[in-house]
Amino acid sequence: MKSSGFRKQSQDEIKQKQAIKFARNIESEGSQINSKALETPKGKKLRKKKSNLAKLKKQLWQLCREIQIKKYGSDCYTCPSKNLEGSSRHLGHFIPSSVCSTAMRYDLDNLRVQCYSCNIHKSGNWLAYERHLIQDGIDVQELKDRNEKTKGGMFREEWYKEQITKYQSLLSTTTPNTTPT
Ligand SMILES: [Zn+2]
Repeated sequence: MKSSGFRKQSQDEIKQKQAIKFARNIESEGSQINSKALETPKGKKLRKKKSNLAKLKKQLWQLCREIQIKKYGSDCYTCPSKNLEGSSRHLGHFIPSSVCSTAMRYDLDNLRVQCYSCNIHKSGNWLAYERHLIQDGIDVQELKDRNEKTKGGMFREEWYKEQITKYQSLLSTTTPNTTPT
């Protein structure tokens, strides 16, 4: 009785295992189909959303450039290089973009025209940068505090749109800075 019971049980087990295996095959095929079917519209939606945000970021960055060039001209803020243009005319961060908050990435106090060499090779040439900011009356410590305070904040499309509107009107009222830097 015991052995036949065992045998019966194991036969049942085999059937059960086969059934599970079969079900799993169907499930995995099904899930592949399902995930493919879901992926495309979801993926498209994500890409569209991302590119929209990327466009806003680009637009805001372009405005930062235009404002600062209009205000400070095209001379390097941190070395004697003058009349920069094209790819040698950068807009450099005082608090580097790698460690600054999103707000500070587009904060005009944190941005100045720099040459390629100062911005890239000298990593912002921050000693000269700091000296000039202080000369310009920028409270550098307050700038660093502002960065800490705005870190980890949520910056959605709305924030970029608000900044763009703000900077568009700022650009129209920006005049060249008369104090020599
Ligand atoms: Zn320079």
